[in-house]
Amino acid sequence: MCAATAGYRGKSVLVIEHTRKIGRKILMSGGGRCNFTNIHNSPANFLSENPHFCKSALKRYPATQFIELVERHGIEFHEKTLGQLFCNESSKEILQLLLTECEWAGVELVSETRVEKIAAEANGFHLLTSGGEMRCDSLVIATGGLSIPNGGATAFAFDVARQFGLKVLDTRAALVPFTLQPADLEYIKPLSGIAHPVSVSCNGTRFEESMLFTHRGLSGPAILQISSYWNPGDSIEIDLFPDLNLEEWLKSQRDQRPKAELKTVLSGVMSKRVVQTLCDHWKFDGTLAELSNKRLAQIAEQFHHWQLKPSGMEGYRTAEVTLGGIDTDELSSKTMEAKKQPGLFFIGECVDVTGHLGGHNFQWAWASGVAAGQAV
Ligand SMILES: Cc1cc2nc3c(=O)[nH]c(=O)nc-3n(C[C@H](O)[C@H](O)[C@H](O)COP(=O)(O)OP(=O)(O)OC[C@H]3O[C@@H](n4cnc5c(N)ncnc54)[C@H](O)[C@@H]3O)c2cc1C
Repeated sequence: MCAATAGYRGKSVLVIEHTRKIGRKILMSGGGRCNFTNIHNSPANFLSENPHFCKSALKRYPATQFIELVERHGIEFHEKTLGQLFCNESSKEILQLLLTECEWAGVELVSETRVEKIAAEANGFHLLTSGGEMRCDSLVIATGGLSIPNGGATAFAFDVARQFGLKVLDTRAALVPFTLQPADLEYIKPLSGIAHPVSVSCNGTRFEESMLFTHRGLSGPAILQISSYWNPGDSIEIDLFPDLNLEEWLKSQRDQRPKAELKTVLSGVMSKRVVQTLCDHWKFDGTLAELSNKRLAQIAEQFHHWQLKPSGMEGYRTAEVTLGGIDTDELSSKTMEAKKQPGLFFIGECVDVTGHLGGHNFQWAWASGVAAGQAV
């Protein structure tokens, strides 16, 4: 986005990629269909030490503009859920859109090229690369975060930032599954592969989406979202019936079918295997008639406020994004240019702006890219 924007302005642009394949994360994204933006995208969908930093770029290049671009390229798409837009066919179409725009804008791309050394010169930069020496007036670092290291992710952006004296905030994996303590995993592991709609909260933030039990712990959209707000040692609270007042519902069921087993009744509104496993673990048993109002309240409390303390997160190997990164205080929110080093720009995921799941991270990549592309 940055290269094409600058190219259309008549700039001579070279994109340097160190792997063989350009745009690998686009290809991997959205299960192969690229969740390329979100129609509800707003600054509220981002985590950053400075929540105001992303506003300017997102306002000047909102989701509607990327949608227009997608439409102009004849790519068919659909809203999956919660404003998330996916290609009908394949992520390859989004990568092709960007490559086509770059071609039209006269951008040159080289792959399998490493940048060995960067030195600032009067009015520009001198680069030593595996493809030879180069000079440029402006240098834009768009090398992303640390997630999926075997897909080409490096700490390059952070190293360059430090080289030029810019502060880099601590980074950690985000939008990532949780691992569980052995004692919890023992009873949860057999549920691996089952998804259930939940509301999950941690440190005052709540997400209502689907949760997936895995052989290592918990995943699914609700869990990935809350992982961005979790710190080691924190508990998460899971409401397994976010749309039901379980206590009242169980009481009415008891009036209607007193001889029915609790597990049988719950299996009408939740996976039978989940009910069996959790009721066995929590020692909830008996027919509804055998359960007092006090006991029903305890049962409802447990299902609505299940407290779990994850042992950790799966890490960068499976994380969708990197939280933290280049301190936004070091950059202009209008242009993404480093305040201390004229001509040096940082865009996309390497900046301390991290989106929620659902197309927001790409929207930030597009918007920050355009902001820099208009300024280089
Ligand atoms: C599995 C997965 C699925 C995702 N799905 C979605 C989704 O559906 N929607 C969404 O909004 N977000 C999604 N994301 C997040 C999204 O992919 C990223 O936030 C986004 O790609 C960041 O864009 P970027 O340009 O900053 O960095 P990247 O897309 O990571 O691009 C950085 C590029 O720089 C290259 N590079 C790295 N180091 C060097 C170096 N030293 N020299 C030269 N080149 C280098 C890399 O090889 C890479 O090609 C997903 C992420 C993952 C891992």
